[in-house]
Amino acid sequence: MTDESKVSSGHCLCGAVRYEVAGPLTDVHACHCGQCRRQSGHFVVAASARRADFTLNENGALKWFRSSDVAERGFCSECGSALFWRDGGDEISINAGSLDQPTGLKLESHIFVADKADYYEIDDDLPKHQGFAG
Ligand SMILES: [Zn+2]
Ligand SMILES: [Zn+2]
Repeated sequence: MTDESKVSSGHCLCGAVRYEVAGPLTDVHACHCGQCRRQSGHFVVAASARRADFTLNENGALKWFRSSDVAERGFCSECGSALFWRDGGDEISINAGSLDQPTGLKLESHIFVADKADYYEIDDDLPKHQGFAG
C-alpha cells in the first residue's frame, strides 16, 4: 500500500526534467506493449498519479509525442529519457525507473502480455492482463 502523505520525486537522466508527486502512486504495472518496448528499449514499469498531485519543477526539455489516438508520451528532448504517459483522464502514468530511490513501490501486475517480445519470459505469479488492467 502507498502512503497518502508521501511526496515522490524523480527526474530524467540529464536532470532537465524534474517532477514531484504530492500524493499516492498506484497501479504499479509492467507494460509489455510494442509502443513501450520501442520507446524504452524493453518493457516499462510505470505507476499512476493523480494529475492534481503532479508538479513539473523543471520542464524546459519535456516534449510530448502523440503515440496513439488517445495517448501521449512525455520524454526529455535533451537525454531521451522516457518519462510519462497520459490520455484524457485525470491520472498520469510515470515510468518508475525515473523515480528517486527508494520508491517504496512494488510491481502489482503485467499488462499487454500478449504483445511482449520473444527474448524474455514473464515468470512471476502477478496478475497478467491481455490489455489494460481491469
Ligand atoms: Zn534529460
Ligand atoms: Zn505499453
